[in-house]
Amino acid sequence: MSETIFDKILSGEIPSTKVYEDDDIYAFRDINPAAPVHVLVIPKLKITGFKDLKGLSESEIGKFIKGVSKVAGELGLDNDGYRIVFNQGKHGQQTVDYIHAHIIGGRQLTWPPG
Ligand code: 5GP
Repeated sequence: MSETIFDKILSGEIPSTKVYEDDDIYAFRDINPAAPVHVLVIPKLKITGFKDLKGLSESEIGKFIKGVSKVAGELGLDNDGYRIVFNQGKHGQQTVDYIHAHIIGGRQLTWPPG
């Protein structure tokens, strides 16, 4: 698995604005925010994308998803709501091959996405 920009963010080689970290996940602000709140959450155990979810154990997936929920809550988004996005592959416009959940909120979002 080739090293991505998110591997370098996790190791500290590339700086990021951390919003949360525990033993299992790392959350940081997106460098090009699509909304007033735009945070990326990655599991510390790397898989390349949503299609490779089988590469994580049920426990690891649970910690990741629960972590995303916790971060969204700590960002103050629970009351008004937010969107979680996993972009996968070419049609999903995934640009970084390290699975990441986008937490997007802080304004009224529209549907469907482009
Ligand atoms: P994707 O399109 O792969 O789902 O999302 C990748 C996200 O990573 C994009 O929203 C992009 O703005 C963000 N991103 C790319 N490079 C960096 C970086 O160096 N630092 C941070 N914080 N975000 C990045």
